This record gives sequence, C-alpha cells and structure tokens, in this order.
Amino acid sequence: RMARLPYRKTLEKFDFSFQPGIDQKTIRELASMAFVRQAANVVFLGPPGVGKTHLAVALGMEALAAGLSVYFIPMAKLVEDLRRAHDQRRLDTRMRQYLRPKLLILDEAGYTRLDPVAANLVFQLVNTRYERGSMILTSNKSFGEWGDLFGDAVLASAVLDRLLHHSHIVNIRGQSYRLREKVRAGVYA
Ligand code: ADP
Ligand code: MG
Repeated sequence: RMARLPYRKTLEKFDFSFQPGIDQKTIRELASMAFVRQAANVVFLGPPGVGKTHLAVALGMEALAAGLSVYFIPMAKLVEDLRRAHDQRRLDTRMRQYLRPKLLILDEAGYTRLDPVAANLVFQLVNTRYERGSMILTSNKSFGEWGDLFGDAVLASAVLDRLLHHSHIVNIRGQSYRLREKVRAGVYA
C-alpha cells in the first residue's frame, strides 16, 4: 500500500541495549498504532546513525501490518515534489495526495536548509495533516535550530506548534550504530 520504505527493518532487529537512552516501553506503545488512530505525530531527534530512520521504518512496517496505509519520503524529495506541483499550478491536487496515507513518514528533516518557497510548502503540508493524519518525522536538528532551517523563526514556530501539539518526541543522544565496529577497532576515540 504505497509504502516506499527505503529498507525493511523491524523493531525486533533494533538493539535497545546499544541505545539505552531510548525507552523501549515508549516504542512498544507507539507500535500499538494508537498514535496513528489519534492522528498524533512522532518525532525522532538525534545525530546521524543512532537509529532514527530504522525506528521510523519499523513503525511503518507495524502500521502496514495493522492494515494502515503508509508513505515514506525524505524531506528533500518531498520539497522537490511539492515545488514542482506548485510551479505547475497543481499544488492542491498534490497536497491531497499527501493527505491520503494514514501515516506519512518524513525522513531527514534538517539536512538541507529550506528557501522561502520550500519552507512555506512544508508549513502547508504540516498544516494540512494537522489533526487529520499522523506523521513520523526524523531530524538531526534540535527544535531550537528550526528557525535557521526554515530561514524564518515565525514560520518555524508555526510548523512546530502544529507538529508538536499532539506528539511523542524521542530524543536519541547515543552513539552512531554505523560507527560501532570502528569504535571497537579503535579507529575512533
Ligand atoms: P539515522 O537515521 O539515525 O541516521 P539509521 O536508522 O539509518 O540512522 O541507522 C543506521 C544503520 O544502523 C541502519 O542500518 C540501522 O538499521 C542500524 N541501526 C541503528 N541503530 C541500531 C540499533 N540500536 N540496533 C540495530 N541496528 C541499528
Ligand atoms: Mg536516517
């Protein structure tokens, strides 16, 4: 059902002992999909490699297993797509497409700064789904940095206001799983 997950990673494959800062019970509760039924959001924050996308995908797979529609898209792709629709004057139609999945996973918010048009398109998307459909968002930027990300502090707080009103925030502060072997081998301090 239109999922487009970048890979298949399950909660079973997630090693919670490597990331003791994550409360396993919270993730289990999210896996019940109550948040999707409530049109609430989940935000995974943290540096690269700590498992944000893995957890987002795993919850996406739980949603699919529960018969809920899921769509996964990296933020840069979303912006590109909405911008094209905007230029071709079919933004309303395109926006409605993004309202269809019960769960929209927006990956990697914060890797690229948004110009004013892009920032506005992201605001419109978040506003459209607000209290209508769930989102999972992953970001390497703390909320305090979103003003910079959006190039507009007022717009950033309008986005955050809607995004966070009904939300579960999972802050991951641990080490990169990608680098763990290298750390063991002493390549990194
Ligand atoms: P992020 O999105 O935070 O940059 P990813 O979720 O893509 O990081 O994780 C990087 C890689 O490490 C992926 O292959 C992921 O499956 C794996 N990974 C990360 N954390 C864990 C973990 N705690 N247990 C098992 N695999 C993990
Ligand atoms: Mg990622």
